[in-house]
Amino acid sequence: MKNLKKLIIITGPSGVGKGTVVKQLLDSKKDIWLSISATTRNPRMGEKDGVNYYFISDEKFKDMVDKKEFLEWAQFAGNYYGTPLSTVNEKIESGFIVLLEIEVEGAKQIKEKFPEALSIFLLPPSDEELEKRIRNRGTEKEEAIKMRLRRAKYEIASSDRFDFVLTNYHVDETVKRIFEIIKS
Ligand code: 5GP
Repeated sequence: MKNLKKLIIITGPSGVGKGTVVKQLLDSKKDIWLSISATTRNPRMGEKDGVNYYFISDEKFKDMVDKKEFLEWAQFAGNYYGTPLSTVNEKIESGFIVLLEIEVEGAKQIKEKFPEALSIFLLPPSDEELEKRIRNRGTEKEEAIKMRLRRAKYEIASSDRFDFVLTNYHVDETVKRIFEIIKS
């Protein structure tokens, strides 16, 4: 892969607001492209294949792992998630800043392999606020919420491995900080 300075990883626990921050980054700048991940989890209501994710089977996922078609991949709350390598390469080569919105294990894998990629960890204002955000989203059943909250504690403990750690109090402020980071 070339020009990894153009690869930006947004990571942090589920519910911290990565999706909202990323959406605002994409709306404000045309030369940013968001990588579409592959996952084995079922689509939520309103999610579309090829738009939110590529929804694929466990077999297909394993096959892609074997063929080394992922830049990184990880298991999260009972499902697999991975970043398809070929499109990331193509977009970087055609001049885009490529954003990855991924969980912490995958982000660590990329940082180890490609330290020049820029990584930003989003922290929730508090544990209580994180739980509130996950619950208010209303997309997960109780068991999945508990799994995500347990995982969040472990993920937050590795926040210091990343280049920048931002507490996501308000989306606007966080997005402004990210643009400052990108410019510098
Ligand atoms: P969700 O099921 O809520 O869409 O995503 C669960 C977690 O997986 C989120 O933290 C999300 O950022 C992360 N995720 C989404 N795509 C990928 C990916 O390609 N790789 C990794 N490692 N994590 C991902």
